[in-house]
Amino acid sequence: MNLTNLIFSSADVFKVISVDNNADQINIYVQSRQKICLCPNCCEPSTKLHSYYTRKFNDLPTFGKACRIFLKSRKYYCLTDECPLKIFTERYKDHFEPCKRTTKRLEEKLFDTVLELGGKPAERICNHFSIPVSDTTLLRLINKAPIPDSGDFTAIGVDDWAYKKRERYGSILVDLTTRRIVDLLPDREEASLVNWLQKQPKLEIITRDRYGKYRRAATKGVPQAIQVADRWHLLKNLGEALTKMMTREYARLSSSLAPRIEESPLEMPDELPVREKESATTGIIKQRFDEMKKLQAEGLSIKRIAVQLGMHRETVRK
Ligand SMILES: [Zn+2]
Repeated sequence: MNLTNLIFSSADVFKVISVDNNADQINIYVQSRQKICLCPNCCEPSTKLHSYYTRKFNDLPTFGKACRIFLKSRKYYCLTDECPLKIFTERYKDHFEPCKRTTKRLEEKLFDTVLELGGKPAERICNHFSIPVSDTTLLRLINKAPIPDSGDFTAIGVDDWAYKKRERYGSILVDLTTRRIVDLLPDREEASLVNWLQKQPKLEIITRDRYGKYRRAATKGVPQAIQVADRWHLLKNLGEALTKMMTREYARLSSSLAPRIEESPLEMPDELPVREKESATTGIIKQRFDEMKKLQAEGLSIKRIAVQLGMHRETVRK
């Protein structure tokens, strides 16, 4: 198999000269085959060679080893008299971009990885795969990435995010179709979100929590869109309702699940004033404590008591 075809899709542009298999790194020496190059300023072709120089690129790892490409590249004279760029460096359509030290294919993978994992975790994973890169470099890829075109979103999710918890918050907007973050707003004010939403004429669905400013912003900014309580907040509300119900009904459930305990469970009406509820809760705790003591007196182990009462062993031990 031709080595150049194996490494590059543009075999007519590049030629692999040699490969060095070192202990922890594979070095690939490559030469350009282009005989003509366009000036990046005036776009006129030039064949007048100025000099050669070597560019170094990190590439995707190979067989668990870091991979480095040494590209013998050219400099050309611009042949257009009026062009201010007298000498320019060779440009390529694929793989290598000006002023970069990673190949295009490696940069694409790094970008996807840091988007999925964030800076530090992505750095650790990359180092596991023999790609030496820092979290700062990875995060810079995100900062440099172009903002996706606006106006095409049909379903958006909005929530807050913390610059610093309990002190300063912004708003995060996610495209629910691609599951990608599309924008960060500097605050969670109604006006900011209205301004952003009004630039989205095709928006059909917006998911949000129960924050009043988001509700009003969605109503003002995209009145045509359906507003949906997002799944996380629906589950959170459901969890809170279940916790309240379980606290209220604990005694009844406990007696039905543990029929051997003959003490009569506490009866609690559906609605109690706060003070009475607190006193009922204290009663439940006392009843549980008495049950534990009774089982302990019967000689049951902490583990058995925990299983029987559906509690954690550490709680029983205390
Ligand atoms: Zn030129």
